[in-house]
Amino acid sequence: MKLDEYRKKRHFGVTPEPQGAGSTEKKGHRSLIYAVQKHMASHLHYDFRLEWRGVLLSWAVPKGPSLDPAVKRLAMQTEDHPVEYADFEGVIPAGQYGAGTVMLWDKGTWQPESANVDASLQAGEIKFTLQGKKLQGSWVLVRPRGFGSNPVRSTWLLIKHRDQYATTKEVTQEEPRSVASQRLLAEIARDEGGDIERASTGDPAGKGRRTTSAKRASGRIARRRQPL
Ligand code: MN
Repeated sequence: MKLDEYRKKRHFGVTPEPQGAGSTEKKGHRSLIYAVQKHMASHLHYDFRLEWRGVLLSWAVPKGPSLDPAVKRLAMQTEDHPVEYADFEGVIPAGQYGAGTVMLWDKGTWQPESANVDASLQAGEIKFTLQGKKLQGSWVLVRPRGFGSNPVRSTWLLIKHRDQYATTKEVTQEEPRSVASQRLLAEIARDEGGDIERASTGDPAGKGRRTTSAKRASGRIARRRQPL
């Protein structure tokens, strides 16, 4: 049931995204999955995902997470994804839902900081601890009252709590590569048959030397990097 919306939106003969084996609620003590996918779709965003009750609860964060507790990042809740999605990196073909390049930007585990996760989600405030490669320590997702009225696409804020992992370092700019393959978006697009030029617009300027030097030689980047 939980994955109906996810499956309805996708054609699994066309997209390489996983269909998902089904909602298999976790038994025993395996850690809960946490993942962030950087997604160059119609707009660049970071899909923030927390495993809960056999699916990945998902929020699209347009600007990506910030390690600065003073910075609140908009997080639009999206449809639940299968747990298998936490390993997905690749290119969603043109014309398909979410068409564009997907990078596995961070992955690890998470723990809720309060016992009743369902009640926290219902109340619109969930505090949790992340053990990722890029994001760690204590965070909160909060859904301010009267802030966006769509109950399906509810608007939340993703905020870092003050702890030893809090910093003003711009993690999205300074750590732009995949934790799975160390590739930039443009390199994933190049390897998987995607739109390299479009994907490269999601990479920080100057980070993709190999990719951009090859493209600069063809003259395309040089024109596109002119001041707008
Ligand atoms: Mn997305």
